[in-house]
Parts: sequence; structure tokens; C-alpha cells
Amino acid sequence: MKLLIVEDEQKVCSFLKQGFEEEMFTVDTAHDGEQGAFLALTEDYDAIILDLMLPKKNGIEVLKEIRKESNTPVLILTARGQLETKLEGLNLGADDYMTKPFALAECIARIRSLVRRANSDKQFNVLTAADLTLDQMQHSVKRGESMIDLTAKEFKLLEYLLRNKNIVMTRSSIIEHIWEVTFDSDTNVLDVYMTRLRKKVDEPFDPKLIHTIRGVGYVVRDPEL
Ligand code: CA
Repeated sequence: MKLLIVEDEQKVCSFLKQGFEEEMFTVDTAHDGEQGAFLALTEDYDAIILDLMLPKKNGIEVLKEIRKESNTPVLILTARGQLETKLEGLNLGADDYMTKPFALAECIARIRSLVRRANSDKQFNVLTAADLTLDQMQHSVKRGESMIDLTAKEFKLLEYLLRNKNIVMTRSSIIEHIWEVTFDSDTNVLDVYMTRLRKKVDEPFDPKLIHTIRGVGYVVRDPEL
């Protein structure tokens, strides 16, 4: 899952980034409203955490711009005593809010629930294809009863493909979702990671679930569907 954090307080921002990365999110950050709005409108995120008091462009303006173009779930961060701004944010289409200071665990739980609501037509916490299961809460992957040990990147790749099971995902959309915005997408790093992932998830097992679509991308196919 890919998250954008727009927050000018470095400490809060890196605390959030680290916390979400430990939960297997890919995280981009922006430290002012202009950069935040730019990233929100040009990249594809599963959710956005948006601080309201920001330099260059405040959070309310950023939210207005996002809502003109997309329904990506937005959680706003407010300081104590910003009740009116908070209400304005909710009226403008923010999906949830938290007042600083807040607990990281609660923030993660709320973001998960926003993403779940936005994807209510899809599988969420436990993703499956044939005998392969990926549990997002426990960070575990199994084929049948065999536990498979994946690195964070491999886990994110598999999660993205499984969440879009039976749909061919293009190389660029995979890269956009799994790597941070600063990643140079001309490299063959994606193929390297896919090879490693297949070695662990497909090679020792049958049926094979991960398929390459030449010149396009990759797909996880569930033969039972
Ligand atoms: Ca701020």
C-alpha cells in the first residue's frame, strides 16, 4: 500500500513514515502544501495524511485541489483548538481526522480502515490465490501450510499483485505503488525482485501463480477462479 504524508514538522513526519514503513506501507513525504498537492495529483496513493497548518499552501487548499480530481482517502491532522478548520476539512471531503498529539497505532488503524472502506469490493486483510495466503495484519505468507519468508519489498510486491488478482498490472503501475517517488524506474530492479519472489512463492509449488506478460507487466492468476 502506498501512502503520502504531507507534514512540515520533520519529527512528526519521520515518526509517521517509519511507523507506516514497519507496517509494510510505501511512504512518500512532502513538507509543504505545494509539493503535497503536486504529489497527490500526479502519483497514485491508497491514502493521504494531510496536516492542515502547512507552509506555501495550507491543508484546506490542498484538500480542495485533491477533491476536484480524486476520491483518495484523506486523513487530516489538526492541532488542538482547530475545531472550525477541522469541520471545514470534513465538509470539504476529508474522510477522517486526528488531533495532535496522537498515538501511532491509532493512526495506522484508521488509515487501514479508510483504505479498507475505499476497497470494499476487494479482499482485504487476508489475500488468497489457490493455496497461497497473505495476511496483512500478521505480515505472513503461506503456500498451504508452508510459511514463506519474504523481505519487505517482496511482501509489498506480492500484496499489490494479489490485491489486483487476475488483473495484469503494468510495470509502471507496480513501480509506482511499491517504490518511493524518487525511485528511478528505468532500472531492471523490478525484474530482479520478481525473480526472487517467484523463487520463494512459485518455484517449489504447484500451480504456478505469478505470470509474466511480456512487454506489459505481471499478473497473479488464481487457477481456481
Ligand atoms: Ca504543520
